[in-house]
Amino acid sequence: MSTKIITPVAQFAELLPQEYKDLVAHGPYHERRSVRDLGTFKEIVDEHPHCAGCGVALAVRLLAAALPSPADTLIVGTPGCSFFSLVQTALNYSNTAFGNQNAVAAGLKRMLEIRFPRVHKDVVVVAGDGGIADIGLDLTLHSWFRREKITTVMLDNEVYANTGGQESGMSRQGRVLNMAPRGKLFPKIPVFELAKVSGCVYGARVTVAGPYKVGRAVRNAVLLARELGPTYVQVYTPCPTNMKFPPDQTLRVAKEAEKDHYSFEEFMSAEAAEYLTRLKATSEESEKAPELAKP
Ligand code: SF4
Repeated sequence: MSTKIITPVAQFAELLPQEYKDLVAHGPYHERRSVRDLGTFKEIVDEHPHCAGCGVALAVRLLAAALPSPADTLIVGTPGCSFFSLVQTALNYSNTAFGNQNAVAAGLKRMLEIRFPRVHKDVVVVAGDGGIADIGLDLTLHSWFRREKITTVMLDNEVYANTGGQESGMSRQGRVLNMAPRGKLFPKIPVFELAKVSGCVYGARVTVAGPYKVGRAVRNAVLLARELGPTYVQVYTPCPTNMKFPPDQTLRVAKEAEKDHYSFEEFMSAEAAEYLTRLKATSEESEKAPELAKP
C-alpha cells in the first residue's frame, strides 16, 4: 500500500489528531515489525472506540504487528466489535455485508492475483465468532472446500457483543448472557475441528494471553495461505463488558481459558510443515520478501 492513500492532504493535516499522523508516519506498513516490537511503533489509534480491557482490540493490535507484509495485505471484515479497531489501524480494510466476508475475500484474492501477478497480495479475513461461525459459516466452509488462498482469523469473544449480549454459536454451553438468561443450551460449534477436515493447510487456536503465539500463528497462516491454501487462526478475545469482569482482568480470564477450554493447538499439513521448515532455513529476508518484482 502506498502511504499516499492514507496521507492527509495539507488542509486536513491541520485538523487531524497527532495520533493519526503518527500512524501514517510510523505505522506497521513501513518496515518489517513483529509482536516483539509492540510499543515501539503505532499499530492502532489509541482512542479507538472499544471498551476498556477489550480482548478484541488487543488481538487486532497483535495481528497488525504480526502481518508479514502489512502494506500488501487486504483485511476483509464484517460488522461486529472487530470492525471498531480494524478501521483504526491504517491497514487496507474492506467491510462486507454480515457473514459474507469469506466469499468477498476469495473473490478479491482471485482478482488481486490477476491484477498483480508478480506480487504477493495477502487477503486476511478478520471477523468475530458471529460472522464466521453463525451467519457466515456456509461461506467460510465453502472457501475452505474450494482451497481459496486466504487466511481466516476468528476473534472469538463467545458472544454477540456489540448488540447487547446474545448467545453465538461459539458461546459456551450453559453461559448466561444478557439476552440468554437461561444459559446457552448447546455446545460451542467446533470450527477449529471443522477447519482441519475442510481443507485448511494450517490452523492454530490461541488466546490473547499468549501474544507471541498469536503473532506466530498469524504469520504462519498468512505465509502458508500465499502458497498452499486456506489457513485458520482462532483467537480467544474475552469481552469484559458482556462477561462482566473488570477490564484489568482480561489477560487473567484468557489465561484461565487456556487451562480450561482454550488450550493452544496447532495443525498443519505435511506440505505446510515442509514449507515452514524451508522458510526457516532460508534467511529472514526470504521470509520478508513478498515482492518478487514490482508490476
Ligand atoms: S462489547 Fe466486548 S468485544 Fe465489544 S468492544 Fe466492548 S469489550 Fe470489546
